[in-house]
Amino acid sequence: MGITHVRESERPKENLMVRDGQKQWSHPQEAPPPERIPPQYQHHLEGKGRLTNQSLFNRLMVALLPLAPKPLVKKFAQRYVAGETVEEMLQTVEALNEQGISATVDVLGEFIHNAGDAYETAATYQLILDEIDRRGLDANISVKLTALGLLLDEALCLELMQNLVAHAAQKNNFVRIDMEDSGCTEKTIQLYLALRQTHTNVGIVMQAYLRRTHDDVIRIIEAGAGHFRICKGIYVEPRWLAYQHPDLINQNYAAILREMLTRGAYVGIATHDERLVWNALKQVRELSLGRYQYEFQMLLGVDHELRDMLVAAGHHMRVYVPFGKQWHAYCMRRLKENPKIAGYILGNLFKR
Ligand SMILES: Cc1cc2nc3c(=O)[nH]c(=O)nc-3n(C[C@H](O)[C@H](O)[C@H](O)COP(=O)(O)OP(=O)(O)OC[C@H]3O[C@@H](n4cnc5c(N)ncnc54)[C@H](O)[C@@H]3O)c2cc1C
Repeated sequence: MGITHVRESERPKENLMVRDGQKQWSHPQEAPPPERIPPQYQHHLEGKGRLTNQSLFNRLMVALLPLAPKPLVKKFAQRYVAGETVEEMLQTVEALNEQGISATVDVLGEFIHNAGDAYETAATYQLILDEIDRRGLDANISVKLTALGLLLDEALCLELMQNLVAHAAQKNNFVRIDMEDSGCTEKTIQLYLALRQTHTNVGIVMQAYLRRTHDDVIRIIEAGAGHFRICKGIYVEPRWLAYQHPDLINQNYAAILREMLTRGAYVGIATHDERLVWNALKQVRELSLGRYQYEFQMLLGVDHELRDMLVAAGHHMRVYVPFGKQWHAYCMRRLKENPKIAGYILGNLFKR
């Protein structure tokens, strides 16, 4: 498969390459260690300051993941991915709706190789919006701008997004722009602000681990575009760009959420971290917010118990529903994020 060179404006000395759908650093000495766990997961690896036997085992399992047979990963994937086809995804959305849960749909496959791929992804999203409308489902869409060509041709990406957001508006629907790695942050914000010049049915994601996010949030709110999802951030970023310590990330998350809520922005509070959920509930209560001024968001397949408790307590819940042919790459990422699960799954394999 082809290799696309992607120059990252915010990291002038480094080049990212996209090979077989995976981002790789072109200078190995500058690359993050391949099996490094994102900082927010490092507490899984720590037992009173040192690695426990169990966490070492999990780490080993993560390193072995690329060797795991695809059918096994697929078995695991069923929990996190709503199948490969639009029809399978719509059935998952329907089932969530029946439990009083909204959805946001993600077409897997953010790394594209040419403009044709970008058009194809945009067309799939248009079809999804049509089907959501036709079936009367409670769901919107989540889009990664790189899947619409952000790193290939920014003008094309803007044009495709303008069409998509306009199409969503016609269907009385909404488009959420996912946030990707730090090389995309400024471009994503700029494109979002450009879209907001003509449409209000589009929102953006902010990552609490980035040092710049607090300022970005204020800038976006002052531009009259405060419609956010807040999450911790999932990409491995260097210390000069992102907080590394889980406590600092959580404190920043809470502070940013307060900034958003007190300034009247609508916020999708995306987390499975019960400490952050607790803090968000406290803020919602203190600010006397109504059900339609915020929502909680969680990933498909993660912590149903917490999800159901929030729904039962009357909060609006939206579940992120990824689907598509590129489920394998997505699941490998999920497994790497959570070594506990990796250890459990692959551990069972080796026991047989
Ligand atoms: C709806 C939604 C949309 C998101 N969109 C983006 C985005 O646009 N850009 C971005 O960078 N990041 C995004 N993320 C990912 C986010 O940044 C975090 O990496 C992820 O949510 C884990 O952080 P946490 O707040 O759940 O806390 P953590 O402390 O990481 O997790 C709390 C607990 O939840 C469980 N858990 C969390 N994640 C998983 C998982 N994947 N599999 C299994 N168990 C898990 C674990 O038991 C863990 O102990 C999104 C997350 C959600 C929920």
